[in-house]
Amino acid sequence: MARTPDFKRASIEAKRARANLPKLPPFDPEAVAEDKGIEVVYASFAAPHDREISGFYHKADNKIVVNRDISTGRMVFTIAHELGHALMHQEYIESQNYQPVYRSNHHEGEKPIEEVEADQFAANFLVPLDLLEKYRDVADIGELARMFAVSEDVIENRLATLHRNPWLAKS
Ligand SMILES: [Zn+2]
Repeated sequence: MARTPDFKRASIEAKRARANLPKLPPFDPEAVAEDKGIEVVYASFAAPHDREISGFYHKADNKIVVNRDISTGRMVFTIAHELGHALMHQEYIESQNYQPVYRSNHHEGEKPIEEVEADQFAANFLVPLDLLEKYRDVADIGELARMFAVSEDVIENRLATLHRNPWLAKS
């Protein structure tokens, strides 16, 4: 039977990865990557990749390469996503199935489960639900996005998750 995405593991690994950071947002995935010996590089991608790819993990050089022409929120999410792969998916990173982070969701239907898990890792790392629950009544989506240094769609997704599973903020 095919494996299904392990959301619990992604959440536990994200919490562990944040352990040495300051306890208040924004949470900096680049600091954690550098701490683990992974260099984060901002680069101009050649066409057509500049419009298609947000970033990727370069296994041989142990580098996360980020498209410098995307928004800060997208950069931060991309770094957190690739950090998730580095911590959870060493085998996958070296496989033929590995995918970069795409700028649009047109590949959504055929995403390997590792991609779903890395997205979950990034969402949990950047926007912990216990903190989101604390701030959601006193800040609007724009303010929350700035507070957590993510794009507004990440906040909207996390608010939807919190709404569906309020118990997750207690775990
Ligand atoms: Zn990925």
